[in-house]
Amino acid sequence: MRPISYARATDVTDAVTAVIADPDNAYLAGGTTAIDLLRLGVVQPRHLVDINALPFDHIEDLPTGGLRIGALARMSDVAAAPAVVDRFPVIAQALVLGASPQLRNMASMGGNLLQRVRCSYFRDVTSACNKRAPGSGCAALDGVNRGHAILGTSEHCIATHPSDLAVALVALDAVVHTVGPRGPRAIAIDDFFLLPGDTPHLEHPVDHGELVVAIEVPASPVARRSHYLKVRDRESYEFALASVAAAVRIDDGKIAAVQLALGGVASKPWRARRAEQALLGAPADRASFARAAREELAPAVPRELKVELAQRAIVRALETVTAG
Ligand code: SF4
Repeated sequence: MRPISYARATDVTDAVTAVIADPDNAYLAGGTTAIDLLRLGVVQPRHLVDINALPFDHIEDLPTGGLRIGALARMSDVAAAPAVVDRFPVIAQALVLGASPQLRNMASMGGNLLQRVRCSYFRDVTSACNKRAPGSGCAALDGVNRGHAILGTSEHCIATHPSDLAVALVALDAVVHTVGPRGPRAIAIDDFFLLPGDTPHLEHPVDHGELVVAIEVPASPVARRSHYLKVRDRESYEFALASVAAAVRIDDGKIAAVQLALGGVASKPWRARRAEQALLGAPADRASFARAAREELAPAVPRELKVELAQRAIVRALETVTAG
């Protein structure tokens, strides 16, 4: 293991300057994934810039009715914030289901979006992995891949994106704000996650040293009636086999508005646009939900139980969010 130097940043410009100075320099926030990966030898930074003292931990109401959540706000604080619980319950539920209480107390919102995949071959430095070592191959293709992705994959990587929070934010059309070498930027969250394609090592459209500073969640007419469902092998400390973020408005028994995203099944948090299209104007009943679920999963790669599981999860999440 090579030596790592450490500095604590108190100013955003200094932090960005320090990280862009060397391709092997990196930020450190909650550290709940980064320290794991350091110990495993998956990442080997030369210099860590601790950003925890930067003023990005607030949750602010926007005049439009949306929220601006600082990238350094802790998962537990955001999950408990009344504005989130009342107006965007799908975010609060995804955060609570996303990690143990200890991890939620440490992990930051920005770090959650930037967390690396949980594919066991990625974390094992003796295995071939195009994401960790571009061009080395993908051990998961012929390995144990029961939990891997069925949508958005490529011949170079089939890992799922691990974040629950990101699924809720994709459903709600959030925007990620960054500051970097090119100045401030706003990136639509659906564009913030890249599909693996031929370059699975590139996961986000950000420059080296570009720092996530906030997440903006727009006001939404459907977010108050929203729900996050997570299906996994055990009920705690486990990643999703399939998850669904659903927000719905019903008028006269028909679906007037719907925002739907899937987790645990795709290479990125997956906006379920085919299902949304099938649902709009349809009766809010089980038959419509099942038809929309089949439509969304039609292009999926069959992998053990996942296609059926994802379809059933969509139906159950929609039944829950439309009940009453
Ligand atoms: Fe690596 Fe992706 Fe293959 Fe897993 S699925 S071994 S992360 S390339």
